[in-house]
Amino acid sequence: MTVFTKIINGEIPCYKIAEDENFFAFLDINPNAKGHTLCVPKQEIDKLFDLDDTTYLGLMQFSKKIAAALKKTVPCDRIGMTVIGLEVPHAHVHLIPLNEMREMTFKHKVNLTKEEFEVLAKEIQANL
Ligand code: AMP
Repeated sequence: MTVFTKIINGEIPCYKIAEDENFFAFLDINPNAKGHTLCVPKQEIDKLFDLDDTTYLGLMQFSKKIAAALKKTVPCDRIGMTVIGLEVPHAHVHLIPLNEMREMTFKHKVNLTKEEFEVLAKEIQANL
């Protein structure tokens, strides 16, 4: 079972943003930028392009909704999207509020307190 399945099942805590029948969104614990969010299909499949078409397109649609709420919440030029998956073998989309290119590098990280994560998650939820 992946760490993301444990999060989806409520066995590991997260800063949850949204959930529907098939998808789940929460804040990345080691963000490239404030608001860095992960959108995950509940189905545990490692690689994005191994998802069936319905799940793949559904993940994009779900991510688009979350991105709109992120854009409203976090001052930024735009929301960047990337898929990596080298750390957690459970398909997920990274949504990252961007002002500069280094925020897409995964070497530039920001620190947020537990309280800041909690407030941010609530603000994004309120903008959904
Ligand atoms: P990757 O699999 O390379 O796309 O990276 C996995 C991402 O998941 C990284 O950005 C991690 O910071 C993030 N991550 C790993 N464990 C957790 C967790 N328990 N809660 C939130 N984010 C996590």
